[in-house]
Amino acid sequence: MIYYSTNGRAPRADLRKAVVKGLAEDRGLYMPEQIRQLPESFFATLSQRSFVENSVKVAEAFFGEDVPQKDLSRIVEETLSFDCPIREVEPDVYALELFHGPTLAFKDVGARFMARLLQHFNDGEGDVNVLVATSGDTGSAVANGFLGVEGIKVFVLYPKGKVSPIQECQFTTLGQNITALEIDGTFDDCQALVKAAFMDAELNEKMHLTSANSINVARFLPQSFYYFWAYAQLQRIGKVKDVVCCVPSGNFGNICSALFGKRMGLPIKRFIAANNANSVFYEFLQTGDYKPRPSIQTIANAMDVGDPSNFARIWDLYGHNTEAIRADISGATYTDVQIAETIKECFTKTGYLLDPHGACGYRALKENLKPGETGFFCETAHPAKFKDTVESIIESPVSIPARLAAFMKGKKQSVSLTTDFCDFKRYLLKQ
Ligand SMILES: *Cc1c(COP(=O)(O)O)cnc(C)c1O
Repeated sequence: MIYYSTNGRAPRADLRKAVVKGLAEDRGLYMPEQIRQLPESFFATLSQRSFVENSVKVAEAFFGEDVPQKDLSRIVEETLSFDCPIREVEPDVYALELFHGPTLAFKDVGARFMARLLQHFNDGEGDVNVLVATSGDTGSAVANGFLGVEGIKVFVLYPKGKVSPIQECQFTTLGQNITALEIDGTFDDCQALVKAAFMDAELNEKMHLTSANSINVARFLPQSFYYFWAYAQLQRIGKVKDVVCCVPSGNFGNICSALFGKRMGLPIKRFIAANNANSVFYEFLQTGDYKPRPSIQTIANAMDVGDPSNFARIWDLYGHNTEAIRADISGATYTDVQIAETIKECFTKTGYLLDPHGACGYRALKENLKPGETGFFCETAHPAKFKDTVESIIESPVSIPARLAAFMKGKKQSVSLTTDFCDFKRYLLKQ
């Protein structure tokens, strides 16, 4: 498969280059030149196959030309070692639970897939250094997805004091090939440092750098597996008429992969992008103008993004046509007060405990779903990852799954840096 840059001013790349480089030379995001339609018969029989079997077929459509079938099947199988069940929260409203992986948030799939693909392409040409900026969940997913993978070093940049203690210990306590860098700034500052590093000629000459943010095709494309699996499960219970998919969105990688699924033929009628108070995409849908701005801190902090990277991909996918985007995607935005109210109300009425991100998705779906439609929203993180917030909202204790508790026993280790690129560069060159 050939990949082009959304900015249109960089040379085309093969999969290997797109995965290893992450970002194109012109700062654009790589897009596959072709999105293959899967046959009708594939969709008609989704519910008869397993999560892994369906995902292998989807992976082959994207990566089949570039990765031998046996390797690709193994990569998918190793990636999907946990389920993503769909649960009925109330009539016609389903939660697609994407939090049953190692770090209890949806980014595990992308991170695990990318680590294995990168390893597949790294045939002993020295260490690859993965740089990743995180507002919370990306860091833990990437760090755990890459932990112990030989020939790869990971640097996680996170904003000081802006990630929850549970999130923080998921990437600061691992050791081995994982280093946590605590940046005295915001998530956008972390993202800017990572982007600047990729543009720095000297760094790139001396070090082999790559990114594991959702800008990387190996991280964002595999997320489309979720949507085929959601559909398969709805098919199993006979609920596939007018399916609406609602995705709590920050950098828009997850929803973008769902849109790719639709392009491949997945019969999802329409999408809803649910935002917290960082409402740049919502406003774009209202006004037609995309106006990025600094992020605002919210209780759904993995969505605190003021300039969503994958907007460039959505813009490209729809041929720079705002009307075409509006025809497929509607938006929603919620304040912290509304998020809290939603968690409380849903828990009281249905017994289902939402996390702050899933709460945006649940509410947007409920407010937008029309009679006759079946909707599902992504529950992107386990509520225990936001224990303090959720407990204070529902006023009862939330128990921590054993997997999560294990992280909290480790010793936190991180390196403190400012937002100054020169500091960051100097640090990297010393490694
Ligand atoms: C990353 C994340 C999101 C946002 O996903 P994007 O792909 O960045 O839009 C939502 N919820 C949780 C829990 C996350 O970790």
